[in-house]
Amino acid sequence: MTKETTLSKDYNSIVEKDSKYVMQTYTRQPLALESGQGSIVRDIEGREFIDCVAGIAVNNVGHCHPKIVEALSKQAGKLIHTSNLYYTDVQANFAEELVNISGMGRAFFCNSGTEAVEAAMKLARVATGKKEFIATENSFHGRTMGSLTVTYKSTYRKPFEPLIQGERFVPYNSAQAIRDTVTEDTAAVIVEPIQGEGGINVPSDEYLREVREICDENEMLLIFDEVQTGFGRTGKWFCKDHSKVKPDIMTMAKAIGGGFPMGAIVARDGISFEKSQHAATFGGGPLACAAALASINVIRDEKLVERSAEMGQYFMNELNSLDNDSIVEVRGRGLMIGVEINRACADIVDLARDNGILLNCTSEKVIRIAPPLIITKEQIDKVVEIIGQI
Ligand SMILES: *Cc1c(COP(=O)(O)O)cnc(C)c1O
Repeated sequence: MTKETTLSKDYNSIVEKDSKYVMQTYTRQPLALESGQGSIVRDIEGREFIDCVAGIAVNNVGHCHPKIVEALSKQAGKLIHTSNLYYTDVQANFAEELVNISGMGRAFFCNSGTEAVEAAMKLARVATGKKEFIATENSFHGRTMGSLTVTYKSTYRKPFEPLIQGERFVPYNSAQAIRDTVTEDTAAVIVEPIQGEGGINVPSDEYLREVREICDENEMLLIFDEVQTGFGRTGKWFCKDHSKVKPDIMTMAKAIGGGFPMGAIVARDGISFEKSQHAATFGGGPLACAAALASINVIRDEKLVERSAEMGQYFMNELNSLDNDSIVEVRGRGLMIGVEINRACADIVDLARDNGILLNCTSEKVIRIAPPLIITKEQIDKVVEIIGQI
């Protein structure tokens, strides 16, 4: 007989179970979350926090938006899974929306960011007949073998080598470095239009334009990894819209499904997988597509793209006005903000949490601020006040 499971409802026993039954790959905050609404999350003891992490740039429309909850509940009562052996109305409708808002050609659906990058890499190889990839220093594209190949951090890579051979890393924001690195066998250049995990690094628009030119001159594809920057996060639907550079393939995930897991790529006209070149059992499933459709409608109806631009500007201005000696730089676009400080920022995350604010520290010295796009001015004021104090 199997041992009976007792349901844990208090912090200590949850942590005890986690330490016993879950592989300890994550460095977790000492917090067990139970519910959320809008920009607020609540822990199991009922304490409230302003969420400036948003599940790592996922909850763009806020926690448990009624429209997302409704779309998921309705769809769950009709059809949860079918596989791609059949058509569904929700997948076809979502594909149309996605192609329209991205201005690209066709979509392929999967379930996460790393899978989207895998799909982009496979598509680049099959579309060009070439094998190698150029990626940037401090890039992050995911943790499966293909996307890990183009992810920079050696602690992520080393234990798992050999990866997919043929990757080359060049400094971010240097077009010349790409020019100097291209070979006859380079299939694609993959870049985040703003580096997320790498420390919220914003390149010049000119850089992205030049990378586009280099790709055209050398018959390579340009892949924009918009997994973190998409769906209004940077004050445009997609970060590519700031520079007006059109990639050949764009990857998406994180915020795409309003919190529900989903990934996708879109490619420009003329670039597409052919029959049976790629597949995913759960890709574009009814629940994901219903949530994603609802999320796009919320972003549109509540004008969250514009709001992200406006609130992001306000947030950065307020942070800049702190005039604090430990702040090296405030940077970002829209509500994708990095505050670089002159030392490691892990303790700031702890202190902020003690004061009712969830922050995240990336690249050691950069406080990452990526709240739901519906965050209010009052909430921003509170966050800035507390960052100033600590
Ligand atoms: C988070 C992220 C990924 C990986 O997404 P997962 O869903 O965690 O696999 C890939 N690229 C970028 C730019 C990301 O921010």
